[in-house]
Amino acid sequence: MAGNILRIGLATPLLRLFDYRCPVQGDGHAAGRGKRVVVPFGKQTRIGIIAAITESSAIPAAKLRTAIRVIDAEPLLDESIMALLEWAADYYRHAPGEVMAAALPALLRKGGAVDATESIWHATEQGRNVDSKALARRAPVQARIIELARDKPDGVDDGVLSVAGSTWRTAAAKLIDKKLLDRSQRRIDPLTITGPANGQSIESPPTPTDAQRTAMDAIMAANGFAAFLLEGVTGSGKTEVYLRCIERELEHGRQSLLLVPEIGLTPQLVDRFRRCLATGIVVLHSGLNDTERLTAWRAARDGSAGVIIGTRSAIFTPLPNPGLIIIDEEHDASLKQQDGFRYSARDLAVWRARQLDRPIVLGSATPSFESLENANAGRYAKLCLPERPGSARQPEVRLIDLRVQPCKDGLTEPLRIAIGRHLSNDGQVLLYLNRRGFAPSMMCTSCGQLVECRRCDARLVFHQQRARLVCHHCGVEHAVPNECAECHAPDLLPVGQGTERLEQALTDLFGQYPIVRIDRDTTRRKGEIERRLELVRSGEARLLLGTQMLTKGHDFPNVTMVAIIDADQGLFGTDFRSSERFAQSFIQVAGRAGRGDRPGEVYIQTLFPDHPLLLTLVAEGYDRFAAQAMAERKLAGWPPYSSLALTRAEATQRHTAFDFLAEARDLAAQLINSGRFTGVRWLGPAPAPMERRAGRYRGQLLIQADTRGQLQRFLSEWRPALDNLKSARKARWSVDVDPAELF
Ligand code: ADP
Ligand code: ZN
Repeated sequence: MAGNILRIGLATPLLRLFDYRCPVQGDGHAAGRGKRVVVPFGKQTRIGIIAAITESSAIPAAKLRTAIRVIDAEPLLDESIMALLEWAADYYRHAPGEVMAAALPALLRKGGAVDATESIWHATEQGRNVDSKALARRAPVQARIIELARDKPDGVDDGVLSVAGSTWRTAAAKLIDKKLLDRSQRRIDPLTITGPANGQSIESPPTPTDAQRTAMDAIMAANGFAAFLLEGVTGSGKTEVYLRCIERELEHGRQSLLLVPEIGLTPQLVDRFRRCLATGIVVLHSGLNDTERLTAWRAARDGSAGVIIGTRSAIFTPLPNPGLIIIDEEHDASLKQQDGFRYSARDLAVWRARQLDRPIVLGSATPSFESLENANAGRYAKLCLPERPGSARQPEVRLIDLRVQPCKDGLTEPLRIAIGRHLSNDGQVLLYLNRRGFAPSMMCTSCGQLVECRRCDARLVFHQQRARLVCHHCGVEHAVPNECAECHAPDLLPVGQGTERLEQALTDLFGQYPIVRIDRDTTRRKGEIERRLELVRSGEARLLLGTQMLTKGHDFPNVTMVAIIDADQGLFGTDFRSSERFAQSFIQVAGRAGRGDRPGEVYIQTLFPDHPLLLTLVAEGYDRFAAQAMAERKLAGWPPYSSLALTRAEATQRHTAFDFLAEARDLAAQLINSGRFTGVRWLGPAPAPMERRAGRYRGQLLIQADTRGQLQRFLSEWRPALDNLKSARKARWSVDVDPAELF
């Protein structure tokens, strides 16, 4: 790369890079791709990433500004990460500077040093012999510092010296001047989480089952890029397969990257990896502070971590010695970022594996239709773990017909009996209800009016413990009114079931057994979810109820019975993915039953026990269900049999949002009618299903294409042109490529 023009990614919403002249030499480091650089931006300065060095710029020389300083001696983002980011910015049509920023830990984004160091203070020979009592009379803080450092041959850090008094830094500087104290820099230990401590032995693995052996052999035989879809029911031993394959990579000195959904990243999972693998393991997730995140990132980048476990954004972690990439629970919607830079970590991972020429494993009990289709088309090799190892068996499933069984507080008679039976047989019972709060609505029994949010097209949810009505969409809270706002009758009644109400009903019926509720309300405090999960794992909690949070990969060995309180919530969604999502959470919840050596039972309460989807799922399992549902998708032309980009717009004035969408539609129509974009069509604009949210009106326009290639060609012209529309500055809008949810 020759030239003296830098093309720089700056974190702005613009879909382009910014040109600057190379900084004056002698100040900072030489320019290079992937290094950070400080540049003037308006009246301020900003930190950007150098994407390229070229000889010419479209910007007139007189207007071209000069960069101030290159921060890094070595590129922070290596060539392979830069290539990934460039591809991602292009594919998701997102501002390249923001994409690059997303790949860096916050401290580095703000210009911090890669090598975090700390000061270490030593008393000099002279300092050790000084008469501190005499010193104390003139300079008490200096004397205390000498006392603190005097007998410490390894030196002491800032934290120790700071005890000497608030002026300790000035005092320490004076001691250095007097040659009584020395200071050196020490690098902070890069590993936040290490493998087994010295001398501690690695847990020896169980003998693999035949199915595990076949899967491991296939993955280990891959020499270069290969994609595997590992389909195994919950508890079938997928994690065991990951561990053995990672171990093999470690033997060859290669690092592995494991991506998991946020909620699946439990201390148990990390502990298991630490017990089973002799290497440094770092964990990257949203709960880290900036320093912890940088430290983990650095341990990956300098190769000292052999395993990197992380959520979505860990896909951007540098891997100098790349080995295996694994996406666990690859169907999980949290792998797709839902705001800002809307990328799919799963899809980026496959791209990255191909570019690194390394194998990738996508694991799930309920694979996404996208991945099943890739397997059907021969792009992924499918590996199956059909059974649980040992004596654990798949549970028995029973449907309870809500049309004939009366239901009190969400529980029918057969369900109450079954719960009682499992509890008295020392079993543990899990109840799934994906609705938090006490009741999803408040109704006036005189006039039938429901209490609605003033800012959203939604009902307020009654939370009894807090005695509030809460909007789950905008967060607004009100005191519970004494009377109906319409007819003023004092007859407001909570209708429907939420987890809070169910917990109360269970306490009334089975109060002698410890109950644990897990939903967003009970786990707000830091560490609370871990504490509650541990109560379940240890067997101390006997009744467990909760929302979606329970459906993700937790291993609860003592659960013998699972109940789905209301299956009908998921059966009739509006999104084309509703049935897929329903089946996935259904199978995931049911899979919590009978993981140990006792057989499990699953009860499902529904008003539609004849629903074909439910019947296929219960009688024939996820694969048969998926085959049927995919055939329907194919007929309807939805993904994976087409590609989508969803434009969402919102504004406080309804027409502002829809004017923009109409202009965007007209532009699309113009391009498509030119005949240059076959296979591309638009749907809408249409109001979002919840048109008003937090006081803003929302609408959407869908672009659909037969293939990814067609969609990308269209977007490459249409998307940049949207920025120039008159209405584009007035509405808040975004384009979501491969949206996870249409509504
Ligand atoms: P998954 O990741 O598919 O949910 P795990 O790997 O966590 O499954 O395995 C479930 C349980 O079975 C774990 O307790 C694990 O230790 C155990 N297990 C896995 N493979 C074997 C095996 N081959 N023999 C005996 N136990 C096994
Ligand atoms: Zn609201």
